[in-house]
Amino acid sequence: MTEEKDRAAGDLDKMSKAELIALVERLDTKLRKYRSMQEFTWKQVNSILSSIPLGLLILDESGKIEATNLQLRQLLERESAELFGKSVRELFPDLESLEGSQEPHRCKVITSSGKNIAVELSINEVFKNEAGRKHFLHVKDISEAEKLLEYKMSLASMVSHDLRTPLTTMRSVLTSIQEGLYGPLAEDGNQAVTWALLSSDHMTTLLANILDLEKIDSVDLVLDRSETTSGRIVNEAISLCSLYAEEAEVELTADVESNVFYGDEEKLIRILVNLITNGVKYSSAGGKVRIKTGLSGVDVVFEVKDTGPGIEEEMKNLIFNRFQQAGSIKRGSKAGFGLGLAISKEFAEMHGGRISVESDGMSGSTFILKIPLGEAPAII
Ligand code: ADP
Repeated sequence: MTEEKDRAAGDLDKMSKAELIALVERLDTKLRKYRSMQEFTWKQVNSILSSIPLGLLILDESGKIEATNLQLRQLLERESAELFGKSVRELFPDLESLEGSQEPHRCKVITSSGKNIAVELSINEVFKNEAGRKHFLHVKDISEAEKLLEYKMSLASMVSHDLRTPLTTMRSVLTSIQEGLYGPLAEDGNQAVTWALLSSDHMTTLLANILDLEKIDSVDLVLDRSETTSGRIVNEAISLCSLYAEEAEVELTADVESNVFYGDEEKLIRILVNLITNGVKYSSAGGKVRIKTGLSGVDVVFEVKDTGPGIEEEMKNLIFNRFQQAGSIKRGSKAGFGLGLAISKEFAEMHGGRISVESDGMSGSTFILKIPLGEAPAII
């Protein structure tokens, strides 16, 4: 090309007509080749832009729409001619500014048929020139995610009001029956009431786990720290699990060195109850669950050791994930949702602590919870 440019610049007047025609033909062929390469590149770019599952739009320096992709037009149910030249603010009236935060903006957009859709807009600057800045916008349809969120919130409120309250009433009536408030119970009647109590406790724990997950996700959950002792936490947790252990014929023992520290008593009891009920649940009749507490450096340590089937190496981290259950066939059908350990881990981490498990994968597991001694919360 350079050679031809030089010749075109300097030697044209020395070339014969035939040479000139040949040069023009060569240049024409090259031009066609470049044009078809350019067309091919555009086609590729267009097909990539159309296959991205996001609406895309390019704005000129005055914030008017210059180009859109197919996804955006489908989302808005509009043709490209209808969108071309329209101001971005006409399309997204909630959008305050094109400048500023890198965070996506949540907006509403109205489609051609009048549907109101929730979208997330990410704004990027394409380039700057003397006329201003051009912008490139990603538009993500989040209407399904918003619907799910609303559904999740109404489910959480239903769980909280419509299920938990009657369960609490049922538990107190069952306890009164067992305590003989309505007359003496026969042996098998007493057994039936115990089972009903255990089932209602199981449901209460499940509901509490579901509500906690919801709170953890919506960042509504905060610690309520106060001065407490490891002895108080262990004793309370044991008393909550003793009926369950008795029924499962698993012995609960405790070796408690009570230490004063600062923590959220209710949440720490929940962790221990989860660990103890798991120890009981995964042990066979005749098994043992031993709870131990002490100090290690600046941490209060709680250990829950059981005589269950143990946990395989590859599952040791996974079981702390939500809805994760390890080898249910080996353990038989133990009802559960795989939430207890995930919530326990969140609670431990909120305290700046951690939870782990030791097991040879055959003969029992030891869950270890470490919580920093902490300091008295500041009084404001
Ligand atoms: P759930 O027990 O309700 O399924 P968790 O989150 O408490 O949920 O436990 C997750 C999984 O970890 C359990 O399903 C089980 O496979 C395993 N696991 C937990 N604790 C023990 C234990 N003490 N012994 C053996 N396996 C356990």
